[in-house]
Amino acid sequence: MDIRYFDNSATTRIKEEVIEEMFPYLSIQYGNPSSMYSIGRNAKRAIEKARIRVASLINCKPEEIYFTSCGSESDNTALKGIAYSNSNKGKHIITSKIEHPAILNTCHSLEKQGFSITYIDVDKNGLVNLDTLKNSIREDTILISIMFANNEIGTIEPIEQISEIAHKNNIIFHTDAVQACGNIPIDVQKMGIDMLSLSGHKIYAPKGIGALYVKKGIEFERFIDGGHQEKNKRAGTENVAQIVALGKACQIAEKNLEEYQNKLRDLRDYCLQKISDNIPNIHVNGTMENRLPGNINISFENIDSSELLFKLDSYGICASGGSACSSGDNNPSHVLTAIGVPNELAKGAIRFTFGDFNDIDEIDYLVDVLKKIIVS
Ligand SMILES: *Cc1c(COP(=O)(O)O)cnc(C)c1O
Repeated sequence: MDIRYFDNSATTRIKEEVIEEMFPYLSIQYGNPSSMYSIGRNAKRAIEKARIRVASLINCKPEEIYFTSCGSESDNTALKGIAYSNSNKGKHIITSKIEHPAILNTCHSLEKQGFSITYIDVDKNGLVNLDTLKNSIREDTILISIMFANNEIGTIEPIEQISEIAHKNNIIFHTDAVQACGNIPIDVQKMGIDMLSLSGHKIYAPKGIGALYVKKGIEFERFIDGGHQEKNKRAGTENVAQIVALGKACQIAEKNLEEYQNKLRDLRDYCLQKISDNIPNIHVNGTMENRLPGNINISFENIDSSELLFKLDSYGICASGGSACSSGDNNPSHVLTAIGVPNELAKGAIRFTFGDFNDIDEIDYLVDVLKKIIVS
């Protein structure tokens, strides 16, 4: 059976060009980048080329990029790294209620270590209220971490205004941009971002590679002790092939960004229109403005999303209820609850996220299947 994949926010299929670029570093180019002989130097050079490509996508300097094992590690490093190295200045951190578990659970862990966290509310559109943010700032606030774009409802947060508020109060600003990166333009200099997390497998690179941008001059404690890799900030022999892959994925993303956004938006809007025309009583969760181009999150009335996903799967259709990370439990998503979606509707929410491998025909198929399952 053909797979129709509408879960590109959970992960993406690796692009051929990316595999081609990384392949030599899984085979003949096996040198350790710390070694002085030629295959070691080749590996080192490949890493630095990838670093330039990642930096270019978000407009920072290559030396401000630290490679990590995933988006979650980037988030952990950012929050714990800043918390530990600034605890003499204060122990208060502000984040939002709709963050990814990589942020929320890191915050819970910091709470156990004596840090104090404020989880600010969002409005019905999923947007952080800037006045609430301002009012949450305390003398001892050391960090604000607000996601760039939400993984469930695609809401794009007012990043520039948030960074302005942070800097006016001498607070470091981190953003989890795992969903935003490669999907919408990011310019860390123009937007005043101090730290940013990104992940390879959401942008057509393999799973298990990520990066953290840290603005020059910002001190943070290292997350993994050991060798001197990544300027002494992240020990462990570099994952050369995957770093190369991430670099290639970022290069492709940067080159095609405008076209890619338009493609996803067209697919998404076509899908939403077609579902609206064919399925009664649907509710779109989150605002359609300030939203990732490839995201739609829909609640179907009187439907249990896990049941619907199960049926869709039997037709080869992949989608998700809430986020991949919270699948398996039956509680309504914390994001939908935070934007005020009633439990009944939250339990019938399905997220469709589009990607480069999708086309219109697949969406026609999806809507036909939805009609079969829901209407008849
Ligand atoms: C996927 C995701 C992460 C985690 O990235 P991994 O590379 O899977 O660890 C973090 N934040 C957001 C918003 C995500 O969508």
